Amino acid sequence: MKVLVLNSGSSSIKYQLFNMEEESVLARGIVERIGIEDSFLEQENIEGEELLWQEDVADHSQGISLVIDALQDEKKGVLENMDEINALGHRVVHGGEKFADSVLITSEVVEKIEEVSELAPLHNPPNLAGIKECQRLMPDKPQVGVFDTAFHQTMPEEAYIYALPYEYYQKYGIRRYGFHGTSHKFVSRRAAELMDKALEELKIITCHLGNGASVAAVDQGRSVDTSMGLTPLEGLVMGTRCGDIDPAIVPFLQKKEGLEPEEVDSIMNKESGLLGISGISNDSRDVSEAAQQGNKRARLAAKVFNYRVKKYIGAYAAAMGGTDAIVFTAGIGENDGAIRAAILENLEFLGFKLDETKNNTRGEEIEISTPGSRVKVFAIPTNEELVIARDTAKILENRE
Ligand code: ADP
Repeated sequence: MKVLVLNSGSSSIKYQLFNMEEESVLARGIVERIGIEDSFLEQENIEGEELLWQEDVADHSQGISLVIDALQDEKKGVLENMDEINALGHRVVHGGEKFADSVLITSEVVEKIEEVSELAPLHNPPNLAGIKECQRLMPDKPQVGVFDTAFHQTMPEEAYIYALPYEYYQKYGIRRYGFHGTSHKFVSRRAAELMDKALEELKIITCHLGNGASVAAVDQGRSVDTSMGLTPLEGLVMGTRCGDIDPAIVPFLQKKEGLEPEEVDSIMNKESGLLGISGISNDSRDVSEAAQQGNKRARLAAKVFNYRVKKYIGAYAAAMGGTDAIVFTAGIGENDGAIRAAILENLEFLGFKLDETKNNTRGEEIEISTPGSRVKVFAIPTNEELVIARDTAKILENRE
């Protein structure tokens, strides 16, 4: 079975074509700068052959058509024709309370995704544009939606209700939803496998630390709390997002700087976080490098970032009555041993000891706690595309 996984963002479409028999990636690529000048498609196939097409891509419709052409390219393509693809899996950012699992996309599902789009106005519309274009171009192909929020739908009320007047939850659905669910689910399951234990026996804290970052508390395989909220802005310090702040800062800034709500929103989402504090970069590698060279604000940004993750790990250990494992994933979590060590410093009371040599490993699945540790610490590369492909294949099989 072949499954095409699509992640349609506002100005890009990322894709991977999987052969599900071996779970191998036949081709992966990206269309970038959609609707902006200098757009291009880049693709690498299973043989490592690269393809680069620089051409105008005005919208998602053209972008998807280009992906289809690239996959069938005479020299560096991997398909004779599109009939070889059995199904498509789409990443959808926000499923609101309507989706607690992946679903086969029907017109009713499209309507529901549209209904929750006001909760993710930057993300859901491009996700939907990708889905609709695929439906138009390949009307007979089954399509599956996999939601970033779905895994967190198991949270109890006390974790997801904000202490605002309850009517806002009822009227507008204002509550914690959480994101990166596909990743938290994948790495928590993988940790259980590595521990050779059933998920039902385990309390796991998963730290997805990329440009966007979130922590989740996974008790018996179910998400019981997570740091992102109504939107992906809450929680950890991120590349350009501020994470938790006193909400009173928002009206204060609006008054002081004469800002419109959208402007404060943009400052909190795009000019804050590591970038905002350091004034140098949203990329943690640049910030670490500047910190090592003695830049004070870069050092401060790194400290604030690490401290926030540490606090969430402590909070989630409290929420679950302890933890059996702590997992690090995504760009920073998989690669940066120095950041992992700084986050874990003083948390040894939870029941682990860090193996410093193992912790210096980059980008590999590895246990970084010492063999005698009661609580295990892992770095586990995440693979959201594989989860989307697996869910798509599973739904297709159940349907047949
Ligand atoms: P996104 O949320 O955009 O998918 P990623 O998961 O790719 O983000 O993570 C991006 C972050 O990971 C950046 O801050 C980057 O500095 C960091 N990162 C990526 N690779 C490495 C590496 N080899 N060493 C240290 N940090 C890395």
